[in-house]
Amino acid sequence: MAKDIKENCGLFGIFGDVEAVQKVYFGLYSLQHRGQESAGIASSNGEFMQCYKGMGMVSRVFRRGSGLLEKLANPIAIGHVRYSTTGSSKSINSQPLLSEYSRGQVAVAHNGNLINAALLRDEYEAYGSIFKSTSDTEVIIHLLAKPTHVSNPDPLAHVLNHLQGAYCLLFLFSDRIEASRDPYGIRPLCIGQTEKGGYVIASESCALDMIGAKFIREVEPGEIVTLDKEGLSSRFFVKPGTVTPAHCIFEHIYFAKQNSTIFGENVHEFRKKLGRRLAIEQPADADVVIPIPDSGTSAAVGYAEQSKIPFDMGLVRSHYVGRTFISPDQKLRELEVKLKLAVVKEAVKGKRVVVVDDSIVRGTTTKGKIRTLRQAGAKQIHMRVSCPPLRFPCFYGVDFPTKEELLANNRDFEQIKEFLEVDSVGYMSLEGMLSCAVLPAENYCTACWNGKYRIPVDIPVNKFSIEHHQKHMFDDLPQTNE
Ligand code: SF4
Repeated sequence: MAKDIKENCGLFGIFGDVEAVQKVYFGLYSLQHRGQESAGIASSNGEFMQCYKGMGMVSRVFRRGSGLLEKLANPIAIGHVRYSTTGSSKSINSQPLLSEYSRGQVAVAHNGNLINAALLRDEYEAYGSIFKSTSDTEVIIHLLAKPTHVSNPDPLAHVLNHLQGAYCLLFLFSDRIEASRDPYGIRPLCIGQTEKGGYVIASESCALDMIGAKFIREVEPGEIVTLDKEGLSSRFFVKPGTVTPAHCIFEHIYFAKQNSTIFGENVHEFRKKLGRRLAIEQPADADVVIPIPDSGTSAAVGYAEQSKIPFDMGLVRSHYVGRTFISPDQKLRELEVKLKLAVVKEAVKGKRVVVVDDSIVRGTTTKGKIRTLRQAGAKQIHMRVSCPPLRFPCFYGVDFPTKEELLANNRDFEQIKEFLEVDSVGYMSLEGMLSCAVLPAENYCTACWNGKYRIPVDIPVNKFSIEHHQKHMFDDLPQTNE
């Protein structure tokens, strides 16, 4: 299971709606799985902007009864939920980032990771620029404000051409929203329309469903979509068809919500296909198929369908457990696993069990779950994983452990089996995984499995790349409200 890998971020924007801010709130709620560290909303009345953001989940930042949504109420709004992939989890790094420059106010919300952010930042700092945060996103505002860029016929397109890496971006200007997606289309971004004809932009289509908007299409890689009083218009900052997409297939496997459609396909259907294929590639002689909930559930349904082995819920997740401490003590660590995931003894006792999960990262949490199944009386445990062994880190907007921490790094299948203490282990092949997708194999990024990074990474970046030399900054600052 991939909880050792943290989601990236979620974006939501809506233009010209009397309930814009409320809709952003609900949109962000449905994108909460993409980031739980901070949440924020920026809105405009057509002339002036307001922004409120804070640490924690949407429900905590915009508490019922706080009156915040009412204070922000304006017809144009964007919102952001964050998990930090560059810049630590501090309020100063929460988004949208609201700034003022020679052309007025702008608020930016970003999902992804800029691999050249540290380089660009160094350049600006060398000329005296001052940065307020340690997130990679702030460099975009500096690019936008640069006088030579401001005078360009299309400043935004010009700025986007300076960025390298993964980025879905929402820009709120006083009179419009501009949404863009990097030329590789690494992260998902889609367009919807409300019943009243207004336009919405969201990271995943589940957020459109949430507010009753209709899915129109995805924002194309290299495209800028403008929402303003004229409606929706589009332009490209990279000529269409000149870059082969590199959609993050891990979005399909783990990050995105099952009811979302991304990269042209429903997530649940894709995961079921993976499960069916996994049953063909890695069969097991067993009595019951159980998922590691929630991310392994759709694949387990597919595995059970294909193998004709009955599906059952042998593990149930508690939705009421927040973050628990990392205990140094093995016994307490086991209790922590049990707190989050309880075994239904009757479903596994005396049985040969196939356990299906979407991925294994470090392997330590998986091992804990396997132990609880053994303690509950499972006779045999056959671990099946619906993606290939993860061997390389991600530099495109996902917070991975280091290569050395990954279970499959320098371990063969026999060693993985021994580590997990299972009777057998079987992973999906790379070809098998790609064969389940609707787009041609070359349209997906698979770097965390095969190390083939489609956007070359000269200097490996991590969450702290920008702030490693200024660790003392921004500690314990209060919540930022602008
Ligand atoms: S390296 Fe893996 S997680 Fe990162 S973008 Fe590529 S497929 Fe997605």
